[in-house]
Amino acid sequence: MSKKYNFYAGPAILPHEVIKKAQEELLDFNGCGLSIMEISHRSKEFEKVNDEAEAKIRSLLKVPENYSVMFIQGGASLQFSMVPMNLLKGGKADYVNTGAWAKKAIDEAKLYGTPTIAGSSKDKNFNYVPPITLSPDATYVHVTSNETIGGIQMQSFPDTGNIPMIADMSSDIFSRRIDVSKFGLIYAGAQKNMGPAGVTLVIMRNDLIDGTADGLPTMLNYKTYREHKSLYNTPPCIAIYIVKLVMEWLESNGGLEAMEAKNNEKAKILYDAIDNLPMYSGTAEVKDRSKMNVTFRLTSEELEKKFIKEAEANGLVGLPGHRSVGGCRASIYNAMPLEGVKTLVQFMEKFQKENK
Ligand code: PMP
Repeated sequence: MSKKYNFYAGPAILPHEVIKKAQEELLDFNGCGLSIMEISHRSKEFEKVNDEAEAKIRSLLKVPENYSVMFIQGGASLQFSMVPMNLLKGGKADYVNTGAWAKKAIDEAKLYGTPTIAGSSKDKNFNYVPPITLSPDATYVHVTSNETIGGIQMQSFPDTGNIPMIADMSSDIFSRRIDVSKFGLIYAGAQKNMGPAGVTLVIMRNDLIDGTADGLPTMLNYKTYREHKSLYNTPPCIAIYIVKLVMEWLESNGGLEAMEAKNNEKAKILYDAIDNLPMYSGTAEVKDRSKMNVTFRLTSEELEKKFIKEAEANGLVGLPGHRSVGGCRASIYNAMPLEGVKTLVQFMEKFQKENK
């Protein structure tokens, strides 16, 4: 098979070592003679996987004791609903509108209370992270740490005092160090930096779980996941197992400090190329550029189509921008090797020369 570099935004590239290990273990998990796909979620083998995935997440992110780590299905999109359903109780919450994903979260919050727009970059087509103005009576403030479509990323997080900060970190969790204690709740779909689609990680402060709304359906109440260690019903076993393998890969590759340095280096190489080659231009304001989803345009839509097609023929896959915005997007998550970014840059240089 010829070498391919995977720039898809999600589901996205996974470490080769992880896929290889999963393949090796697929028929016989840990010598039990059965596949991880066919053993009970109540078996001691699976419970160990579940516990280890949680323990590794806690250790990599330095999750404080007073937080619960939960695995929930329904994607990050279900979290857009579960957050206000559990916490809003008809009240007010601040939402920062940074683009397509934030907007979806805001729309769901309207079903359970009153979201106030605490900052918005709509005026410039969501190409920057706006300043945040907190309302003193907000139940919480919701941010999107990285907008996967717009290619913008919060480089730092505000101090929100007594107002719990809730963050959708779907597309940049585990890409850098974060101070979990600054947040009331963090959620992220697995399918970018954590594993395959099918499981969503939720890290939530216990006092917020204690205060969730009454009368919620069992499966939509955070308490259910805390009280049953995410095993109230049958979980997505194989997805959690792969998350565990990815966490092991992170540990053996230097943890989040090393990931952060590597991600900074990769992003710099790619943005330098975009800035130095006249055929390309970045779409995000320089200060807010995402280190995970690098969005750029060529000088015409026709050239963009040609670029994407020829890139694919050269083994560089997944470069079209999101269908709602067009252009190009290179997603360079943790598992993308430096070599992949360098190969893309060489291709960009060659394409420019050939299409002057
Ligand atoms: N938030 C962000 C930042 C995302 O990138 C995505 C998916 N790409 C979602 C939420 C929605 O995730 P899901 O498809 O898992 O519901």
